[in-house]
Amino acid sequence: MAGHEFTGQVLVAEDSPTNQMLVKLLLERMGFEVTIVENGCQAVQKALAGNFDLILMDIQMPNMNGLEATRALRQEEFATPIIALTANAMKGDREKCLQAGCDDYLPKPIDVKQLTEIIRSHIPASCVAASETADTNNA
Ligand code: MN
Repeated sequence: MAGHEFTGQVLVAEDSPTNQMLVKLLLERMGFEVTIVENGCQAVQKALAGNFDLILMDIQMPNMNGLEATRALRQEEFATPIIALTANAMKGDREKCLQAGCDDYLPKPIDVKQLTEIIRSHIPASCVAASETADTNNA
């Protein structure tokens, strides 16, 4: 479809069905293919088995939370960008997420503009649709 800003595969680890639907819708509108898992264990398994360009990782999930899942992935030298999603944005959350190995942090409720910005700054260049390739880089 025309007009999509991105292309590629995003894994979303999120236990709330409402947020799963919302995030999936937002990401699909941006042009991504979306895979949803509902806990940290599944996130680790899927991420290691798949070929994802970005991971959105809810922090509060059953079984294994998002911080534990991120640590486990980084121990496996998993290099894909991981963006943490967290509901109770408290002081120190950001540091905790970054220390666990997340690349960035997005507070919930999700702001579409903020989500887009954060994706833009972490997604591989190959996932940005080439609609605005102006030849202005010849300094
Ligand atoms: Mn949650």
